[in-house]
Amino acid sequence: MSENAVEITCANCGGKDFEYPSDPQPDDVVTCTGCGASATYKEIIDAAEAQIVDQLKKDIGDIFS
Ligand SMILES: [Zn+2]
Repeated sequence: MSENAVEITCANCGGKDFEYPSDPQPDDVVTCTGCGASATYKEIIDAAEAQIVDQLKKDIGDIFS
């Protein structure tokens, strides 16, 4: 499997290309290359994880409940 565990997506434009340090820290600012929106790495990862959890809930039912 080669998929990333967490795929980050811009909440503003849906883009998947971002500028961020090679070893981003939670407080580092990540900038969307598509629309220029920025957020902290932590905010983006939290949002991505929330999306994944929502998807998993749909895919495998109530294992997280
Ligand atoms: Zn964007």
